[in-house]
Amino acid sequence: PFRIARPTTAPQLSALARLLSTLAVLEQREGKLNVSSLAAVTAAQKLGEPVTGFVAGSNVKAVAEEAAKVEGIDKIIYVENGAYDKGLPENFAPLLVENIKKGGFTHILAGHSAFGKNLMPRVAALLDTQQISDITHIESEDTFVRPIYAGNAILTVKSTDSPKVITVRGTAFPAGATEGGSASLEEGVDPKAECPTEWVSEDLAKSDRPDLATATKVVSGGRGLKSKEEFDRLMPPLADALGAAIGASRAAVDSGFADNSLQVGQTGKNVAPQLYLCAGISGAIQHLAGMKDSKVIAAINKDGDAPIFQVADVGLVGDLFEKVPELTEKLRKE
Ligand code: FAD
Repeated sequence: PFRIARPTTAPQLSALARLLSTLAVLEQREGKLNVSSLAAVTAAQKLGEPVTGFVAGSNVKAVAEEAAKVEGIDKIIYVENGAYDKGLPENFAPLLVENIKKGGFTHILAGHSAFGKNLMPRVAALLDTQQISDITHIESEDTFVRPIYAGNAILTVKSTDSPKVITVRGTAFPAGATEGGSASLEEGVDPKAECPTEWVSEDLAKSDRPDLATATKVVSGGRGLKSKEEFDRLMPPLADALGAAIGASRAAVDSGFADNSLQVGQTGKNVAPQLYLCAGISGAIQHLAGMKDSKVIAAINKDGDAPIFQVADVGLVGDLFEKVPELTEKLRKE
């Protein structure tokens, strides 16, 4: 009952292309293009050409050149200024607004990431428009589909605002090819707005495993793992045998079994990998909200009535402390 029917065909909006002009806000970190932010480009392409990318920060020309190779972008506007490195919305929003006004864009798209969620409401407020958040499908140039109530209902929203300020769900608009494009580069305007916020520091969890949000395979553990020791003993070998990223339920995170950054769900990350394999997770709606669009869902749970089995394509009823090591061993031998 939780599965959402996904549209199978992209909207054919090319007839509108002449009227539209879309700006995709790209993210960079330490001089490298953040590929997950290319979801905004994929969505922009569905609206029609031309698509312009926007990036700002120090030494950003290299990022702009990298972004210029992304298929489907016609032009990259870049602003070279270290004040935008951390994407603080206080000065990034006025910067973006100046460039939107100069370019006369009809649609502004960014990923529904921490950056996009922080930035775009300010941009919408400065432009006096209503933001359209977390879209999963584009029906037409003014009509968009987005999940509400943790994905339990799907809202189709029509906007008469101009320009339209939109955040896009990454899992619904996978990044396209990062090679093959040849966009032109243009220096943007820099209003050099004051930034009352100072970047102090960040503490990021480091991992050699694939990035959870973009991994093609995810193994996820829940409260059924019982302790951090058991989580660390069972989940990493399973992840390594599959080449998967590790995720966790909120109960596992709150109990200290796994880092906060691994949480999947309504208040964690949205994932839609080819394979989502979970053990000791009951399948609460808030967890399903973050993973139910996975292509294949496999679940191990000792309770045959656990709600996770309602969305699972493959289910194994059994004790995870027995089944997970057994599965890991079999996968290693393959
Ligand atoms: P439980 O529900 O306790 O399930 C544990 C499961 O493990 C059970 O099904 C049990 O049968 C099984 N099990 C136990 N022992 C074994 C064993 N030996 N072998 C096999 N199976 C075993 N949750 C999220 O995950 N992500 C979110 O983003 C999120 N956001 C939330 C936001 C809000 C506003 C609220 C109110 C809640 C949110 N939650 C979220 C919490 C959610 O409601 C659930 O409490 C949580 O997902 C439960 O985690 P769990 O499945 O690991 O634990």
